[in-house]
Amino acid sequence: MSAPLNIGVLALQGAFREHARVLRALGAEVVEVRVPSQLDGLDGLVLPGGESTTIVRLAELYRLDEAICGFAGPILGTCAGMIVLDREHLGLADLSVDRNAYGRQVRSFEADVDLAGEAEPLRGVFIRAPRIRALGDGVSVLGELDGEPVLVRDGRLLLASFHPELTDDTRVHERFLEMVRAQAHEGEASLPPTNGKEEIRVGA
Ligand code: GLN
Repeated sequence: MSAPLNIGVLALQGAFREHARVLRALGAEVVEVRVPSQLDGLDGLVLPGGESTTIVRLAELYRLDEAICGFAGPILGTCAGMIVLDREHLGLADLSVDRNAYGRQVRSFEADVDLAGEAEPLRGVFIRAPRIRALGDGVSVLGELDGEPVLVRDGRLLLASFHPELTDDTRVHERFLEMVRAQAHEGEASLPPTNGKEEIRVGA
């Protein structure tokens, strides 16, 4: 069996424990990230929902903003985590959002998200959710609510405007771990040949 994936969850504020629980249930090793050095050796990173202004302020305070910008692995951003990654904040994701654009806190709601290529919809928990206003050309839409994008992929970034960690449906996290596994394998493929491969070549 292959080694478990090491996934960091930014643990400054918000729903980081819930993400950690889902990721552990799916077999990942989880690191709660509070300082830049904790990003070392991670295969992937999750930015949870919460309050984006607070997360951005704390990330700046602990120099995690620069560190996250320098992190090369796949990143899952949910709700406030998606806001933190957008064009107006860290600028890693090629999209713009309107914060709290589905209404006030009392208007938080659950709804079925249509997933591209899947018959079974995914129950989405929307809590003062950001609404995607504009997407770059390279961003693909993986999930929609009433025809509007709510789950998108921009290269190594997977972004949801809802909270996939608050239901028992683990499909968003599974998809993220597949992206992480694929990128980790690419890295292995570009390593120099191992001793084992050398031996085979010599013996042939
Ligand atoms: N409204 C929050 C913000 O703007 C996001 C809400 C959430 O993450 N559930 O940061």
